[in-house]
Amino acid sequence: DPSADSYHPLKNAYWKDKKVTPYLALARTFQVIEETKGRLKMIDTLSNFFCSVMLVSPEDLVPSVYLSINQLAPAYEGMELGVAETTLMKAICKATGRNLAHIKSQTHLIGDLGIVAEQSRVSQRMMFQPAPLNVRDVFRKLREIAKISGQSKMDMVYNMFVACRLSEARFFIRSLIGKLRIGMQSRVCSQRWPLGCQCPNYDIIIPAILKYDIKELQERCPMHPGMPLRPMLAQPTKGVHEVFERFGGMQITCEWKYDGERAQIHRNEKGEISIFSRNSENNTAKYPDLIARSTGLLKGDVKSYIIDSEIVAWDVERKQILPFQVLSTRKRKNVDIEEIKVQVCVYIFDLLYINGTALVTKNLSERRKLLLEHFQEVEGEWKFATALDTNDIDEVQQFLEESIKGNCEGLMVKTLDEEATYEIAKRSRNWLKLKKDYLSNVGDSLDLVVIGGYKGKGRRTGTYGGFLLACYDTENEEYQSICKIGTGFTDEDLQTHSEFLGKHVTSAAKSYYRYDPSLEPDHWFEPVQVWEVKCADLSLSPIHRAAIGIVDGERGISLRFPRFIRIRDDKNSENATDANQVAHMYQSQDQVKNNQKSSTQME
Ligand code: ATP
Repeated sequence: DPSADSYHPLKNAYWKDKKVTPYLALARTFQVIEETKGRLKMIDTLSNFFCSVMLVSPEDLVPSVYLSINQLAPAYEGMELGVAETTLMKAICKATGRNLAHIKSQTHLIGDLGIVAEQSRVSQRMMFQPAPLNVRDVFRKLREIAKISGQSKMDMVYNMFVACRLSEARFFIRSLIGKLRIGMQSRVCSQRWPLGCQCPNYDIIIPAILKYDIKELQERCPMHPGMPLRPMLAQPTKGVHEVFERFGGMQITCEWKYDGERAQIHRNEKGEISIFSRNSENNTAKYPDLIARSTGLLKGDVKSYIIDSEIVAWDVERKQILPFQVLSTRKRKNVDIEEIKVQVCVYIFDLLYINGTALVTKNLSERRKLLLEHFQEVEGEWKFATALDTNDIDEVQQFLEESIKGNCEGLMVKTLDEEATYEIAKRSRNWLKLKKDYLSNVGDSLDLVVIGGYKGKGRRTGTYGGFLLACYDTENEEYQSICKIGTGFTDEDLQTHSEFLGKHVTSAAKSYYRYDPSLEPDHWFEPVQVWEVKCADLSLSPIHRAAIGIVDGERGISLRFPRFIRIRDDKNSENATDANQVAHMYQSQDQVKNNQKSSTQME
């Protein structure tokens, strides 16, 4: 019957204090997970801990899960801690008596403020020991920290930090930074299982799991309007032939791929409308015009629905779609209907829920039938995605050309009847994107995070002339450098980027940036912006770190001839192209495939 101090997640079933879960037990669990290599072992360790919580203090399960995935609430509520690293450094200095320069240099050296905080505490003597922390209080206080600002925020961080024992300091600080670095991304451990996908809210799911058996759970945690589903995503392809290779004799449909902003539009039984972005952010306040005219869309008796669609900018006079760039000039928050300059049209391509019934397990033909039955088009406001059901390769090619003429990016090709359910949160092989302007070698553009800037020379003096970009490695929760970029920018772009990124300069590289020292930029940035980038091809690189260890033990992958396309406001930095996707894109290049083939033949 161990106390929290001696609790070891692999050896003990639970801790001594049966009323509340000690924060130290959670920290110890994270510590073990951090030292573990194998994924299954990690999951085992975490589930051991959760079992102990369930046995000893079940009401701590919800806070324990949230703390393990480093979230304070369902993602769609958008509650974030937002504590700057310098604020944390100051709190650590105050609590440990160290000076700021020392903490900064240690962080630079070790690459992890959490460890620095823990080590600084070890050597510190306390006049009196504050009460031990517990999971429930830590979670509650973190939620409070997220809501307050200024000095009171700083005070609260300080008071909690002072109470941290042993590795608690490491994980407390990492929680505040927003990176736990135990390799257990929330999406990996939770949101891909069916229940988490249809009901992405632990406050609902966990109590239900404790109460009902597995058969009942699905019913007890239904999807419902107002709670966003993570969207189904598509795989890139390099041409019509690849599409037909994949789909063979299956019935398919091609839809125009509109270039705007993804919108999941929900209406609940009370008639309230909410609009969610690709990232499940609440975009309702951005589109009061859509809400005002939403009844025009309905045909017959529709009480509630969830539709999947793309919002595009619309030229009212010429009755045509405008480029994405126009949509991006639209105001984002507190939009006043009277002041809207950019009109929009919504292109609907899916129906996920209607009048209390979820449709995601039905196939696309059925969902489409219901869509046409319950909704109607309104010129320039609500339209169904232009579609063509064909299995003729020439017709697909021709439809692709038409979509480009119609100001679209290309086509989405989808299965209609077989393997045609709506796969929540999945990048599915049943939706393929076919874009016209791909460089044939690389199937898709990449979405990368800007982590550093190089000062411009000559005509570019006074702005940044080049930038360091990174992909995101979800396994290790780090940004890995992938290329320097200086092409594709107009002078105006450079001005805009310099102004924006200039506001997000940090004094040193983040501890979770992976890069070679030879790439050191003039300024490092917070990971705040994602850019869409195209390139000629991907190659192995001795200096860049993208996907290192996946394709090659020592070398990362870098982009050749990267070119800036646009800012991706709808993606946050953790939605940037993932290291595994980079590895996949590298490997699916023709010359790499051919090389691999010939080396296997030689063997
Ligand atoms: P990711 O593939 O990572 O989502 P992305 O957002 O860049 O990145 P795209 O290449 O833009 O993906 O392709 C998928 C997106 O295309 C969808 O998220 C949606 O916003 C848009 N889209 C436009 N028309 C359609 C359509 N008819 N069906 C499905 N998606 C469409």
